Parts: sequence; structure tokens; C-alpha cells
Amino acid sequence: MTTASEDKGSPPKPAVAGTLPDAAVVLDCAPLGFCLLEPDGRIRHVNAAFSHALSLPADAILGEPIVRFVHPDDAGLLSAKTADMEGGGVLANQCELRLVQPDGSTKPVMASLSQMTGPSPSIILQIQSIDELKQAITALQKSETRWKYALESAHQGVWDHDFDANDLFYSIPWKTMRGMAADAPVDGSLDVWIENVHPADREHVLECIRRQDEGEVEFNIFQYRERHADGHWIWIESRGASIEWTPEGKPSRIIGTDTDISERKKAEAQLEEISRRLRLALDVSKVGVFEANLDTGTIMRDKQLLSIYGLDPQQPGLSAFEERLHPDDRDAALARVAAGVASAIPFMNAFRIIRPDGKIRHIRSSSVTYTDNEGAHKLIGANWDVTEDVTLRDDLERARQLAEARNLELEAARTRIEFNALHDHLTGLPNRRFLDQRLDEWIAGKVDYSAILHIDLDRFKQINDTLGHQAGDAMLMHTANVLSAIIGERDFVARIGGDEFLVLCDPRRSQDDVILLTDQIIEALRQPVAYEGHLCRFGASVGIAWTADGTADARQSLMNADIALYRAKGLGRNRYEFFTQQLQTQIHHAKRTADEIIKGLEDGEFVPFYQPQFDARTLDVTGVETLARWRHPQYGLLAPDYFLKIAEDINALTAIDRCIAEQALSDFSSWETQGFGIPRISVNVSSSRLREPGLIDSLRQLNIPRGKLSFELLESIFLDDLDEDSSQILSDLSMLGIDIEIDDFGTGHASIVGLMKLNPSRLKIDRALVKPIIEAAEQRKLVGSIIDIGHSLNIEVVAEGVETIRHAHILRDLGCDTLQGYAFARPMTRADLETFIRSGNWRPPEAPIEAVHRMVRRGRKA
Ligand code: C2E
Ligand code: CA
Ligand code: CA
Repeated sequence: MTTASEDKGSPPKPAVAGTLPDAAVVLDCAPLGFCLLEPDGRIRHVNAAFSHALSLPADAILGEPIVRFVHPDDAGLLSAKTADMEGGGVLANQCELRLVQPDGSTKPVMASLSQMTGPSPSIILQIQSIDELKQAITALQKSETRWKYALESAHQGVWDHDFDANDLFYSIPWKTMRGMAADAPVDGSLDVWIENVHPADREHVLECIRRQDEGEVEFNIFQYRERHADGHWIWIESRGASIEWTPEGKPSRIIGTDTDISERKKAEAQLEEISRRLRLALDVSKVGVFEANLDTGTIMRDKQLLSIYGLDPQQPGLSAFEERLHPDDRDAALARVAAGVASAIPFMNAFRIIRPDGKIRHIRSSSVTYTDNEGAHKLIGANWDVTEDVTLRDDLERARQLAEARNLELEAARTRIEFNALHDHLTGLPNRRFLDQRLDEWIAGKVDYSAILHIDLDRFKQINDTLGHQAGDAMLMHTANVLSAIIGERDFVARIGGDEFLVLCDPRRSQDDVILLTDQIIEALRQPVAYEGHLCRFGASVGIAWTADGTADARQSLMNADIALYRAKGLGRNRYEFFTQQLQTQIHHAKRTADEIIKGLEDGEFVPFYQPQFDARTLDVTGVETLARWRHPQYGLLAPDYFLKIAEDINALTAIDRCIAEQALSDFSSWETQGFGIPRISVNVSSSRLREPGLIDSLRQLNIPRGKLSFELLESIFLDDLDEDSSQILSDLSMLGIDIEIDDFGTGHASIVGLMKLNPSRLKIDRALVKPIIEAAEQRKLVGSIIDIGHSLNIEVVAEGVETIRHAHILRDLGCDTLQGYAFARPMTRADLETFIRSGNWRPPEAPIEAVHRMVRRGRKA
């Protein structure tokens, strides 16, 4: 506040110019300004205070008209006053004047005029400076205005309780905020006022007032709700200050302001609500919040953030964050922050931290930089712990990987099983099932092949039997390797049975190409294979079904290849045969015949025929050969060439042999009992029949007398060295007194030495050798040599196929012992034989000569 002490000037000095009465000296010392005016208004005399008031020395003032030093606007007033004074004085002799200073400024003074009569009448002008007062008033007015505006614009109502004066003052805003009219009277009594206070706030308000009234506090501030004239509640913040006190120390005057803070309260409540929600949300979400001042390096962290990081609230600075970072993530995380700060774009971050307890946690953060009101560069962000999520995700990932691994394992197992299911365990080649799949694909048109090769190993069974299964396995693996090496990428090879393989040929192969491939296979497989010191020789027969002309479906072709193989096998080893329609017809026939053989055996359609044999010299019947016949229900009587081969193929030959032999022996024994006079009976025995288990036992039980029964064995049976079993059987037969005859002698290539080991009783010269002896001398010689050798070894010689008497004579002359042939008798039924024997008319007319011979021989034998 401006004060009067700022007033310029110094105390008045006693030095005054001019002639002065004594009283003038006194006046000079007076603090008030005095001036003596001539009646015309010129200045006659001034004291020091006056000249000081004009800021001029006295000699610059004296003689001058007073109006010169008065503000022009005030000059009139002064003239009027002086004139009035001279005229008797009706106007008040006091007025306010502005004195003009040398620098042009004015100085307010209170002027009093008084008349001085006497010898030199004059007017006394007395002045008192009111500059300070003026300034104080102005300042006060200014201050009041300022406060008034300040309070009003702040919507603050002023109240003033002057208890001493019993004066209660309430400003207009005070009323306005309460909805009262500006001129409305206010009952300032506490009892009335408190009624308008919200009941919930009353106690608190009264307590505050009491404390101020009691002088416990000098300054008081409280908030409460008061009822607005409209009826709603308004929030008021009341500030009161005690400014005057009773002698007892209690306030006698309290002044204060009331502020309507309803809006603020509302905003606060809203803010509170918002921040409560935010807090709740943060609490629930477990999100920690930080705000870092990037300029100062200080940071504020909320409770949640501290707990996430395990930080002490005292741990200051950004470094605490860096220290927690997992070493493996540190560089990346900090680089991310640096980049985010540099970009000023909101950014995410993910990293691990190591808490003081050693636990590793996964943290996600979202941050953004901003500049606050004070221009500080800040980074604000939220962090949350995603360890559970990460763990869960890791667990899931592990589970997924595990499942995947399991799947792979299963897949591998499935593949393995599938492979095993489709491949031959020994050779690793595709098996029959795989082949079937391939055939299905072929039928479906997904693949195509030009030919099927059905390969069957020759002599495999012998290798298996003689060298053992391991040798057999080695041969099969060798074969698989050979085939795999020879076939092309688009051929398909499978092992489909014991020693059977199958090749589906690349559709691009021509027929010549297929033949070439087959030749290669046969050639490769006929090469001997070393196995544990043995050189194993086997070979392969191949049946080929050419399919490229699209005649047959896949499965039919498969059968065709089988048929062709069957033919190839039948024709000898190491060869191939193509399937043909003719072949198929033959095979069909063979198949049907085979079925009929089985049925014929069951129905007893196989019967023995008998062909007698004669002494070459006497033509006596020496025995009968049993020959099988089939009484076919459709085709009538069938000879062995119709069924023997097929029966052998289907392993029915043993059964036929057995069946024929049984009937023959039964017939023979009935002839014996009848004394029919047939010395001996022979049966043809196949090699399989010879090896039939139980043969020897069953023969033993029959108790056949020695020399009555002969077994005719084909020379070819003995082509190979006799195995131990066969030798045993032969010696068993001779023990039982059963003769062995070598049938079809001269056709095979068995060595004589080898044949001798069989210890045969007879050998039968094949009819193919016998037939040409009439016209060919060479043949005669050959047959003669055979007879001589036989005799030299003490073996009887039988000639078969003796068709004419001339043959009979030549053979007899060559020394042959026994004759059999159409010249004497054809094979016949038992009944026919019996009739034949009884008739005895097989002897030719020149019997007398024969009779001589007979006698000679009988004599020799005797
Ligand atoms: P084989 O043992 O050489 O039998 C003699 C064959 O010559 C018989 O043919 C017979 O009918 C025929 N034959 C007899 N005399 C003459 C003749 O003067 N001229 C001609 N051209 N042929 C004559 P069959 O009965 O057709 O038997 C053929 C072959 O069948 C037999 O040859 C024999 O090896 C075999 N066979 C016959 N029956 C059986 C049997 O029960 N078991 C076995 N395993 N083989 C049998
Ligand atoms: Ca025979
Ligand atoms: Ca024969």
C-alpha cells in the first residue's frame, strides 16, 4: 500500500526573505503554508512551508499573482473566494486547490482563506498538503475495487461478523451463490443458518465454528453443503480469519469468504470416480504404471509396478529397471526403449526380468513419450506380468511338440507297420498284398504296365532240402537283389510266394524289350551262387503275360502269367513262355481234367488193365503188367497219357498208383486162390508213390510171397543220385521179396553202374528201341547188347512193344527173356484176361519148334 512517507520535500527552513514582523519568524517555522495576498491577488509574503509547497524559492514567488500557481481549472474558484471574501464572505472559506509545480505537475492542497484588515488590508491564504491523503484514498479505493472484482470473479462471497458492533455483513456474491436476491436480508444467527446446512455436515461445521469462536484457531477453513434457495445442495468452502479480539482473547470480529465449490466437488467426485475405476482396473489387471522424467532420470512407480519388479520404493532412478533385466534380453529391451523414445510413437516391449527372489518373470510393456506442462520430456508406460501366459504358451507349445513327436512316432510306426504289411520280411521286396494294391491301381487306371513276368525258381526245393532253410533264404535274397538290380525304375517287383517272384513291366517296354529283360533275369539267375563253401545252382522259369495290347484285365493277366509259367516249367528249366490263347485252352482243359481226376478217384473210376507177358521161347505166360485206365463217365475208357501228367502235377499220382496197386493185388490174390496160373504181377510205381510214407509198412502187412510182385520204376527216376531214403526203400522192398524192374530202359541216360546199385530183377527195353529192330541192323545190335549186358549182370531182360511175330522171333534170337506186346495181347480187363488165359490161343501155328525150345530151356533151368 502506498503511504504518505513517500511524500517529497524536507522540513521547512527558517530562512525567509523580505521584511518581516516578529510574528513572521514564528510563522516561518510553522508546518502549514502561509501566504499573504494583496487585495489584487498578488503575493506579498510566503512562509518556508508555502514556498516548499510550490517547490520554488520565495523571491520567485513574491509579487506574482497567486493564480499563476494554481491549476487554471481552480483559478476561477480561488478568484471567486477572494472576491467573496472582500465582499463580506458568504461562501465557505475552505476549498481544495491544485498547486502547479515548476515541472507542470499539480499538488492537491486544502486551502483556507481569511481576511486581514488593518493599515494594509490583505488576505491570508493558508494551505495544507492533502497529497498523501489523496493517495491513500486512491490506493484504498483501488484495493477495494481490486478485491471486490477478485472476490466476485472468484465467486467468493464475503461475510464479516463484527460481534462488538453487532454488525453482520454479507456481500452480494455471498447471497447470489445461495440463490438470494442482492438486497435480501440475512438472518446471520447461527441457529437459523445451521438449519440450512446439510445434516451430515452440521456436526463438523459446528465444531469448526466453535474452535474459531473459542479462539483455538485463528484461521479456519472447512467445506460443507448448504441448501440453495431452490432447494438443492451446494458445496461451500468457507474460510474465516479472526481479526479482532476481546480482552479475554476471544475473537470479536471474524471475516471470511465463502466459495461455491459445487462444480469443483462434482469434478472431484467424478475424478475420484474415474481414478477409483482406474485404480480398480489397474489392480485387477495387475498392471504397473511408471512415469519417468527423461531429463532428470527420475521415475515414479506405482505399487503394482514395484511389486512386479520386486523393487523397493526407495530404489530410485531408471537404473533399477535395467538392473532387473534378464541378461539375455537386456540389450534388445533397452534398444527397443531407445528406439521408442526416439520415435515418440507408442511402442510395445517384451522381456524377462530377474526379481530379487531370483524368479524369472516375463514382462510386457506399452509406453509412450510425452512432454508435460512444464516442458519436461517424459516416458509413461504400463508393465504387466505375462509369465503365466508365457508359461501356459510354453506348456502348450511343449505339449504341441510332444504331440507332434508322438504323431511322428505313430506315423513312423504306421509307416513301419504299413511297410511290413506290404513287404516281404526276408527280402524286403513288396509282398503279395502290395502287389494286390498295385493291381487295384492298375485296374483303376492309376498305373499301367506292359507285361507281367511270373518267375519261379528251379531246383529251389532241392537246395532247401539238402542245404537247409538258411541256404534257401540266402538264395531268395540273392534272387531279390538280382531282380532289383536288373529291373528299371518303373518296373515293379514283388515276392509273392516261397520261390515265386513277379515283375510288372514298365509300360514303355516293347515286347522285344520284355524278352530281353526276361533273358537277362534267366541268365543272371542261372549263375551259381556261393553259399558256405557250396556252389548252389538253381535257375528260373518265367511265364510272361503280355498286356500292352489291353486284352486282359490285371488279375486275368496275373493268371495268364501263371499259366505261361506252368507251361515253361513243364517244358524244362531256365526258359520263359508267353501266355497264348492256345495255352490257355490247354490249361483250362488240364484244370478241368485235374478236377475230374480228383472226382474220379473218389468215384472209383480208375481201374487196372492187365497185359500179359510171355516167355520168349515157350510163350508161356510169365506174368502180367498192371496198367491204369480211367473209365471216364463222358469220354469212356482213357489211357494213362490222358491223365498221368496232370495227376502228377496235382499230386494225385500217388493216389492213383495206390488205388491201382490195391485192385491189382486183390485180383492177383483171387487168381492165386483159384490156381489161375499167373506167376507174377507187376505194377508201375511213380517216384512219389515210392517215397510215400507208410508204403513199406502197408506192403509188409500184405505178406506177399517172394517174387510174386514187381515194381516197375522208370529209368528217369534214377537219373539223379539216389538219396538215402530211396536206397533204404529199395532195400526194404527187396527184403520184402518185391522185385524191382527198370522200365523204359534205354530212353534215359542212367549209367549202367548206377542202375546196378538198384539190384533190379529185370530191365524192360523201351518199345521205342524195340520197334525198329526189324529194318535196322544197328537197332538190333543195340538191343542185343542191352540183353547181353543184362544177362552178364544176371538181370532178366523184357522187351515191350512187341507188335509182330517177327519182332518176337528176332528178340527171342537175341536172347531176350520175356516178351510183351500187341503181337500176343493188349492190355485188358480182369475178366478179359481170365478169358484170354483160359483160351490159351495166343500161340502161333509153328508151335512144335517152340515146344523144343521150351524143353531145352526147362532143362537148362532145372
Ligand atoms: P509202360 O510201362 O511202358 O507200359 C506199356 C505201354 O505200352 C502201355 O501203354 C501199353 O498199352 C503199351 N503197349 C503194350 N504193347 C504195345 C505194343 O505192342 N505197341 C505199342 N505201341 N504200345 C504197346 P499205356 O497203358 O498207355 O501206358 C502208358 C504208360 O503209362 C506206361 O508205360 C506206364 O509208364 C504208365 N502207366 C500205366 N499205368 C500206370 C500206373 O498204374 N501207374 C503209373 N505210375 N504209371 C502207369
Ligand atoms: Ca511199365
Ligand atoms: Ca515201358
